[in-house]
Parts: sequence; C-alpha cells; structure tokens
Amino acid sequence: MTFETDTFDRWDLTPVINVSGTMTSIGASRVHPEVIQVVSNILGRFVSMDELQSRASGVIAKATGAEAGCVTGCSASAITQGVAAAITGCDLAAIEDLPDPGAHENRVVIQRAHMINYGAPVHQAIALAGAQVVPLGTSAQCETWHLRKALEQGCTAAVYVVSHHTVREGELPMNLFVSICHEYGVPVIADMASEYDLRGPIELGCDLAIYSGHKFLAGITSGIVAGRLDLVRATYLQHRGVGRTMKAGKESVAGAMAALELWALRDAAAVRASEQGIVKDWLFKLERVAGFECSLHEDWTGNPITRLKVVVDPEPAGLYAWELAERLASRSPKVILRDDLIEHGEFYLDPCNVDPEEAKLAASAIVEEVAEAKAKGNGLAVSWSEVKQQRVEGAVSWPTRQDA
Ligand SMILES: *Cc1c(COP(=O)(O)O)cnc(C)c1O
Repeated sequence: MTFETDTFDRWDLTPVINVSGTMTSIGASRVHPEVIQVVSNILGRFVSMDELQSRASGVIAKATGAEAGCVTGCSASAITQGVAAAITGCDLAAIEDLPDPGAHENRVVIQRAHMINYGAPVHQAIALAGAQVVPLGTSAQCETWHLRKALEQGCTAAVYVVSHHTVREGELPMNLFVSICHEYGVPVIADMASEYDLRGPIELGCDLAIYSGHKFLAGITSGIVAGRLDLVRATYLQHRGVGRTMKAGKESVAGAMAALELWALRDAAAVRASEQGIVKDWLFKLERVAGFECSLHEDWTGNPITRLKVVVDPEPAGLYAWELAERLASRSPKVILRDDLIEHGEFYLDPCNVDPEEAKLAASAIVEEVAEAKAKGNGLAVSWSEVKQQRVEGAVSWPTRQDA
C-alpha cells in the first residue's frame, strides 16, 4: 500500500472551496504550514505531557496576559473542563467522581441569550461536567437582578459567551457581568472560541477565557484555556476525570502553541488588505447579478473581518437563497457559503479561508448557478421548510447503505 496518491483521490473526497469562514463541519481552517511542521515534528516522538502543557502555559500566558493556561481537545471540551474545575478545584477524589458533584456546589449561570448551538448546545458542554445549568432572563433580556438572584442562591461558576450566534439585544455586558459575579466570589468563564480578542476578557477580569486553536488561529483541533492559575491548574487536572474522554494529545498541545506564536508574528494589516481585495472583487462581480443586493458587512462581534452580504430577491434571481446554497454545495468542488441567515434570503461570503484563485472560482460558480436556474426555470421550487426537513433526513441517514 502506498499513501503517495492524493488523499482526496485515494478516498474519493470532494474538494471544498470555503467561503463560509471557520466552520468546523468542513475542517475549520487551513492549518498554517508552520503549525503542520511543528505537529509533524512532535508526532513521532515522546514527551512528558505535564512538561509540554507547562510550556503551553507560558505561551498562553504571553499571548493573553493571563497567569497561566493549558490546552484541551477543543473549545467545547474546554468549557466542560473549566466548569469541572470550578466545581472540584484540585480535589482529586471529586475529579474522579464527576459528573456526580457530590457535596460540591454545582450551579452554573448563563444568560439565556448566550445559550447557543455551535454544532452542539453550550448548555450540554456545561452539564457534562456535572453542573446544573441555571439560565438567566429571557432570550433577549437579562438584567442585573436576574444574575444577582441566581448568585444569591449559590453558584460555582458563570459562563459568558461571545459569538455571532448570541442574542446581543438586552444582554448584560461582559464587564458588568464579571463585576457582579465577583461580588459573590463566583468565577467567570468566557467562551471566546471564534473571537480574535486574545487579551480583552482577561483584562476585564474573566477568570478563564477559552479559544479554539483551529478557528482563526489556524492551528490543529484544540482548545486554549487562559486564566487564573488555580483554575487553570484544576482545569488541567480534569485529564484524570471527565477530560479523559476529551483528550488533547501532544500534537494538539504543540499545534496550539505554534498557532499562538505565529498569530503574534503575523502581519495583520497585510492579511486584512488581501481579504478586503477579495471582498471588493466579489462585490464587483456579484452586484451585477439580477436580484442580488450586495453590500460590505462588518463582523457581528467586532472581529476585523469584512464580508460580502448578499440579499437575494427570489423573483428576479430565479431561485431562493437556500436553493443557491444547496446547489453550490452539490458541485465539485463544493462551494460552501456562510449561511447563518439563509432562511431570511441572505448569505455572506467570507474571505478568511480562500486564496484569490478559489475566490474567483466561488464567484463564477455563483454566477453560473443563478444563470442556470434562470435558463432552465427550475428555481423557486423548494421552500425553506422543505430544505430544513431534508437536512434532518440527511443527518439521521448517515452513512448511507452505499457508504457502508
Ligand atoms: C466554535 C465554537 C465553539 C466550539 O469550538 P470547538 O473548539 O470546535 O469545540 C464553542 N463556542 C463558540 C462560541 C464557538 O464559536
């Protein structure tokens, strides 16, 4: 057997042009070549994981301004292990007993507006640690008294999520949330998985801040935990407990360290200029498409990313936005749009994970699919409700009989 043939040919995989950003469902991000080098350098060797993680602590502390840090399997597992740390501290017996918290306090507060799904629900990641999730307020309103009332009843931790998925109308701002939690001696765990701001949450007083190594950082699959020394220590100790089922290997730890060091060295202005060039080219090509209303859109949570926003007027375009997304995803290469708001007839093109060549191919594919729908008159045929149901059917029928 030889593995010299191209991986995609060998297993008959369809290439993907990613204009959606950093989506874990299609492989998160293009891993930085130097991260690949570091990972391949460590994979064939042995290393003390305690020593490697203590070096990671230094790298994370430098990148975030925190006292300490450690690397987990991913951000979702970092949430579970960070919450577990708040419940058990360094009580080794309690660590082995989770998810049974025993006599330890286990209530964890989170604003309802932050109870998102990033592929799985955040409240499940909290509950996996043996915590009781205590939702605050309503979906678009959380007031100080909601938080105070819950804290008065006893809490072990509070989770604060920053994400384009949260409802930002009516949420408690991070600094106010942190200061109230601290009045009650309750640590705040900030889920910053896809946020570029590596220092803000620690500066604001968050006790732990969590980042994905495989999103904007362009590392391999990993979670990065930064924060207070005692909580980081207790987070790392969870590898003797619930963290074992979410194991971070030597490659994840070294990959995250390399990704953080490279992030500090990158020329952010040059990257931004090249991404803006791609978006301007998309705007130029797509604003001529009948039924498309194109504009530049700044990132929802303030990351320095400008995307192209396209609102599709179905009649002149000849198809619905979701039909376009489905058709693009069934081409080869697949073209994957950013589709968070597709049910509202809009989509976004994200320049973070495409090279200029792929960006051109993506724009041509969009123009072609719209032209074809119009020429054949086969658009405006599938409602959003039908697409939603088809997606459920697709999910529960994996793998198909032919695959198996
Ligand atoms: C992506 C994401 C996660 C999950 O991250 P993984 O590292 O893939 O587990 C958690 N929270 C938010 C806000 C995210 O965007």
